[in-house]
Amino acid sequence: MDIEDLFEKEMQKDTVFLDRNVLSPHFVPETLPHRDKQIQELMQKLAPSLSGKTISNIFLYGKTGTGKTVSTKHVIDKLMAVKKKYGASVECVYTNCRILNTKYQVMLKVAEYCHPDESFLGFPFSHLFQKIVDYVQSNSLGLILVLDEVDKVKNLDDLVYTITRANDELAAGGISMIGISNNIAFKESLDPRSKSALSEDEIVFPPYNAEELKDILEQRVKLGFKQGTIDESSINYASALAANESGDARYALRLLFKAGEIADLEGAKKVTDKHVELARKGVENEIVYSVVKTLPEHQKILLHAIAQLSKEGGHYARLDGTTAENVLFTGEVYDRYNKICRVLGKEPRTARWCKEYMNELEMLGLITTTISGKGVRGNTTLIRLAYPAQNIIDLMKKQFGGE
Ligand code: ADP
Ligand code: MG
Repeated sequence: MDIEDLFEKEMQKDTVFLDRNVLSPHFVPETLPHRDKQIQELMQKLAPSLSGKTISNIFLYGKTGTGKTVSTKHVIDKLMAVKKKYGASVECVYTNCRILNTKYQVMLKVAEYCHPDESFLGFPFSHLFQKIVDYVQSNSLGLILVLDEVDKVKNLDDLVYTITRANDELAAGGISMIGISNNIAFKESLDPRSKSALSEDEIVFPPYNAEELKDILEQRVKLGFKQGTIDESSINYASALAANESGDARYALRLLFKAGEIADLEGAKKVTDKHVELARKGVENEIVYSVVKTLPEHQKILLHAIAQLSKEGGHYARLDGTTAENVLFTGEVYDRYNKICRVLGKEPRTARWCKEYMNELEMLGLITTTISGKGVRGNTTLIRLAYPAQNIIDLMKKQFGGE
């Protein structure tokens, strides 16, 4: 054995994985099952750019995990490959607006793309703008600007207006936008002019059903797992779970990856339904954690109070003895919240504020509230935690350190 392979061998020893990268969210597979129609539509709309025509702005929408980003990248790669082969004056700039979320940041990226050797640091926006216009015009360029998660741009009306203005000023070439969003409703908040400019053309990405998800998973299993390390039924199970979760391929892939990791930890030779089920619980915790992490401090404290009481069994359960456990009264939650505030040395907010926080926790799906019927202390709001109390308490420990 080559001594250089030792580390590699160690990693390969007890694992179901052949190549973990294949399961990562950044991996772009060669083919994308069940997106032929969307890919073809997008290709058709982009094709004229190769012969120097300005294409319309295109808006792609569909729920999260329906392949919008990966399909767009796939098509852009193809476009750039053909451009390279034949030569055409078309360029593409991809921006993720979750990260670049202002007009300035987006346009700065475009300017840097056009003039890679120049620094734009400290220059006013008008300078960037002029530099972009000059570059596009002097090259008669068809510039395609991909705005992924476009709804995250804070001053989107302004950005769209800027691009429109650039096109008006251009004597040659043009800038087109591909806007991508998980959130169809956001368009309604836009100025009517930018709304119609953004979506001259639209492509819809429907959620995947269980069968389609199964095909997507099977493609990755072939590349990412060793042969015979995955039960067929566990693929079916992961597909069914993800189909229930709004047909999200990202979730399906995550489940499968986690299930593989859990199987490895157990030293199991095969991934089974049981591992997928454990993975589901783990992923759910991750999702809750990402929500909890971003809560403002007093909402965290309130949630902690609710979790503690649920675990102890609230007053309501003790009064009634027969009804569903973990139903809490507003009053006891507020008392506990005050108590935790004192322990942490924080000034508690008023009951009215707490009511507001409660609404927000409910909107985030962390709790549910109902108005009690008559008999249970008149009409009061009853609160119930949407996740197992211990999970929330564990997450809180990470937040506050200690209970
Ligand atoms: P969206 O942008 O719509 O939220 P993505 O394009 O990021 O979704 O896809 C989510 C994950 O699922 C990515 O890892 C992607 O590679 C994978 N994926 C989505 N659709 C397909 C498909 N048709 N075939 C293979 N993998 C896919
Ligand atoms: Mg995306």
